[in-house]
Amino acid sequence: MQRDSCDVFIVGGGNAGFGVTVPTRKAGMKVIMAEARDLGGTCPNRGCTPKKVLVAAGHALHEIAQAHVHCISVGKPTLDWAALIDREKDLIAGIPDSLAETLRGRGVELIRERAKFVAPNAVEAAGVRLAPAGDTAVAAVVVGWDVAFDQAKLRAAAEAIWAGSPLLVTSDAPYFATTGRRSPGVAGFIATGLSHVTGAAYEVLGKPSRLAAACAAARLGVRLERMLVAGDDLTLEVSMACRNGGIGVLVTTGIHTRSDAARAPADRRPHLVVDSLAELADSLGSAA
Ligand SMILES: Cc1cc2nc3c(=O)[nH]c(=O)nc-3n(C[C@H](O)[C@H](O)[C@H](O)COP(=O)(O)OP(=O)(O)OC[C@H]3O[C@@H](n4cnc5c(N)ncnc54)[C@H](O)[C@@H]3O)c2cc1C
Repeated sequence: MQRDSCDVFIVGGGNAGFGVTVPTRKAGMKVIMAEARDLGGTCPNRGCTPKKVLVAAGHALHEIAQAHVHCISVGKPTLDWAALIDREKDLIAGIPDSLAETLRGRGVELIRERAKFVAPNAVEAAGVRLAPAGDTAVAAVVVGWDVAFDQAKLRAAAEAIWAGSPLLVTSDAPYFATTGRRSPGVAGFIATGLSHVTGAAYEVLGKPSRLAAACAAARLGVRLERMLVAGDDLTLEVSMACRNGGIGVLVTTGIHTRSDAARAPADRRPHLVVDSLAELADSLGSAA
């Protein structure tokens, strides 16, 4: 079956799904809803409304039991449970059909099937696959510290990159300093793998990129060349400062030592080396 794409695809016709139909249709969007069971969902069919019928009966029984307090004599009430359940069913019976009418009135298309996600960006119901203009609609693949990266994510990311999405990574540092030992960098590991699979080069968004430096400078309200960046890694913080005209300070609490700093190429040679941030604060204080 062929179907035009839609602006909004709603999975489930419960209170939440119905709530979405009003503003989206008002905004002129094309809306499709998939509902696997009864329109209205839990609240009118299995929750709030039928419950209230039973609660009302329980309340009536309670009032009868309390009648003597008001000096009223009544006989012992009997409850016809089957009849009460029939009444409950009768009261809610027309709700799904009347909600179908409401949907028609709102101009929402209804698929009476279970919907399932077949890709991160695509949903399928009644054999109809709906995806926003194919995988090329993925604006970018951004890789972060994803320790749960698996084959499904690899496929989704690779397909988006093959379709033209840029590959971005928060950091491609091979390892980081953590207490007592180095910790391997997850994001760079994944990005390198994706680059191998797709042939696409990746761009680093975080340290030491110019983009990260410019964001930090803008946030601080200083010019790049007036920004001091202190860190324990020559290839990250110090490089970010030096490559972008700022002031790089190596703190020797992590990855690199004073002798590493002395041997470093110009684009990552620090202006100052300190053994702690307290020492840096002292140096800045005495320079002021
Ligand atoms: C016994 C009971 C009493 C309650 N009483 C009250 C009350 O008095 N007051 C109150 O405010 N709240 C009450 N609630 C809570 C209320 O029912 C829920 O908060 C409300 O129904 C949630 O709405 P929803 O749209 O998020 O989910 P639901 O109403 O559960 O709707 C989800 C819908 O999505 C459909 N669906 C799910 N997966 C798919 C899929 N893959 N494809 C297509 N369709 C799918 C389901 O069939 C269902 O119709 C009660 C709940 C229960 C169980």
